[in-house]
Amino acid sequence: MRRVLILGGTAEARALAAELVDKGVHVVSSLAGRVSNPRLPVGELREGGFGGPDGLAAWLVAERIDAMVDATHPFAARMTASAAEASARTGVPLLVLRRPGWREGPGDIWQRVASLHEAAARLRAPARVFLTTGRRSLPVFTGLAGVWLLARSVDPPEPPVPDNVHVLLDRGPYTVEGERALIREHRLDVLVTKDSGGPMTTAKLVAARALGLPVIMVDRPPPPAGVRLVETAGEAAAWAQG
Ligand code: NAP
Repeated sequence: MRRVLILGGTAEARALAAELVDKGVHVVSSLAGRVSNPRLPVGELREGGFGGPDGLAAWLVAERIDAMVDATHPFAARMTASAAEASARTGVPLLVLRRPGWREGPGDIWQRVASLHEAAARLRAPARVFLTTGRRSLPVFTGLAGVWLLARSVDPPEPPVPDNVHVLLDRGPYTVEGERALIREHRLDVLVTKDSGGPMTTAKLVAARALGLPVIMVDRPPPPAGVRLVETAGEAAAWAQG
């Protein structure tokens, strides 16, 4: 039986696992183990880091993996780099599945920036910020004078949470109506987000456009040179079946 490792943590990774299991492939999905109550894929599951490229390379050999799909989040750059290195060392073929990024359209007021730090530097006080860049990014934004933050994340950020931060624990998918109501209720005047792409979290962008809210969009890190990339679970499933 063909054995495929999926580096997961995304909706696309779960869709890919379901499609491959359905086709009779033995799938092992790997999660980082950071979210307290993750949505789980079908098939076999393992959790936690591998211990860098060395650890992953050893694991691929020990588990007799035939092919590996990196379907991690577009901002999980360390895992992707590690997968590329382990693939080069072991010869286990690697495919990177990345959903397309978001595109600015008519009515959008976006600034694209290269990093979270650049996003923080673009904020002009006084500001009431809708921050959806993840709980671990919060420290980048908390020290800014005159900046109030509505920080939405799946799990709570590390305490202590400063007074100028209101934490909202939630996970998508979200509705445009819900996002509009949130922006109005908290009198938010700028959205800071990562270019995650995908349909689960686009409602905030539609609401921002409708309300004339500017968006600071953090660009994705580039994939490692030379890796093979696809954008959909279907394409990845066709490749992974060999
Ligand atoms: P990262 O910075 O690229 O990864 C840091 C380390 O965590 C990796 O070096 C690896 O440890 C371990 N790791 C990451 N993903 C793993 C996986 N699928 N299976 C096993 N180990 C994994 O990644 P991150 O940004 O912390 O994201 C962690 C996970 O959350 C990813 O799997 C990603 O799909 C998911 N996620 C991330 C975001 C985001 O915005 N970054 C959003 C939604 C979901 P070792 O070096 O020890 O192998």
